[in-house]
Amino acid sequence: HHHRAAFEAATRGFVGGKVPLGIKRKGLRIVVTGGAGFVGSHLVDRLIARGDSVIVVDNFFTGRKENVMHHFGNPNFELIRHDVVEPLLLEVDQIYHLACPASPVHYKFNPVKTIISFFLSNFPFFSLHKTNVVGTLNMLGLAKRVGARFLLTSTSEVYGDPLQHPQVETYWGNVNPIGVRSCYDEGKRTAETLTMDYHRGAQVEVRIARIFNTYGPRMCIDDGRVVSNFVAQALRKEPMTVYGDGKQTRSFQYVSDLVEGLMRLMEGEHIGPFNLGNPGEFTMLELAKVVQETIDPNAKIEFRPNTEDDPHKRKPDISRAKELLGWEPKIPLRQGLPLMVSDFRKRIFGDHSDAKP
Ligand code: NAD
Ligand code: UDP
Ligand code: UDP
Repeated sequence: HHHRAAFEAATRGFVGGKVPLGIKRKGLRIVVTGGAGFVGSHLVDRLIARGDSVIVVDNFFTGRKENVMHHFGNPNFELIRHDVVEPLLLEVDQIYHLACPASPVHYKFNPVKTIISFFLSNFPFFSLHKTNVVGTLNMLGLAKRVGARFLLTSTSEVYGDPLQHPQVETYWGNVNPIGVRSCYDEGKRTAETLTMDYHRGAQVEVRIARIFNTYGPRMCIDDGRVVSNFVAQALRKEPMTVYGDGKQTRSFQYVSDLVEGLMRLMEGEHIGPFNLGNPGEFTMLELAKVVQETIDPNAKIEFRPNTEDDPHKRKPDISRAKELLGWEPKIPLRQGLPLMVSDFRKRIFGDHSDAKP
């Protein structure tokens, strides 16, 4: 709080809040819950590079120490193993609340022989809902106590199987409250409600991002999401598993675009919610084609039964973020996918590029 006030005082009057050369911007103290995960670790990289002090709070449920290990030893970096379902006392200026296991639904209902990781096939679904509800409540309580600004990473899943296309923030969604996906969808919807309650009732400064399907390096290899599945399968010379007829659509955003959007949202003056996603829409069969072009033209496709309540279409309307945050994604799928593929190649086969002869 004091840091933010000091920062604002130091930069007041300068156009665009830019600090002129010679005046040192005071770093903020920022907590990133879920900071050892895919998106969180990329966000942490940017915040550290900007000169802020970052505390990562993570229980390593789907995240990995490897994602943030390169910051070990940096005095501006701290890693706490903690489950956000338990209360937490910290003094910070900003809270990026990302903690929430990646949606594991497909595994439970498509326990196909591909690459099922242990924890997902034994996934305690109630804990997902609890993380979204109790974890978010705790982080909002923390924000209230210390006067920190709080950003929630919600999801396009709050729109459910949408009856409006593309999805605009004003759309209330079409969610099955008792379905197999509802621990995720409804959990995030409740998290949004709590966030607005703390804003209205306790004057907590809040921000809400609704994130659409995002991919990139450090993505969990085995969590069953479509981009990671196809890439890992094509690399391993296994057939790519297309669920249903493959005509359902998703819009895929590269992770650096998302991180830029999250930071602009946090620093800006608007609460949101804001859709953060890439409007480039693909059917799963088209995605499989792009993966073939990128990795292996001979990669095979295998059809599998689809999961319950699978949304038919998804594409963000990002007019609001464009107008109010000056943000739009820069990296199309065909440019971003190769960056992810080289990371997956190293993680699956090991990096032999610097092997001694
Ligand atoms: P991820 O699974 O890689 O990261 C989530 C992190 O939270 C992991 O490091 C995990 O260990 C941690 N975590 C989970 N439960 C926790 C708990 N109870 N206490 C502390 N830490 C906990 O997933 P991601 O893709 O990086 O997602 C980050 C956020 O963005 C999530 O909130 C997710 O719902 C949201 N989101 C992501 C996408 C996407 O396509 N990647 C889309 C929509 C929304
Ligand atoms: N909380 C926390 N850290 C803090 C302050 C609060 O984890 O620094 C938790 C607290 O344990 C509670 C939740 O946040 O479970 C909500 O806090 P709040 O003060 O809003 O509610 P109350 O404690 O009055 O129910
Ligand atoms: N999907 C697929 N093959 C896979 C994994 C997923 O065809 O191996 C489909 C899935 O049925 C859905 C789409 O890809 O229609 C996106 O799934 P994902 O889990 O990546 O994201 P979400 O459904 O949460 O948007």
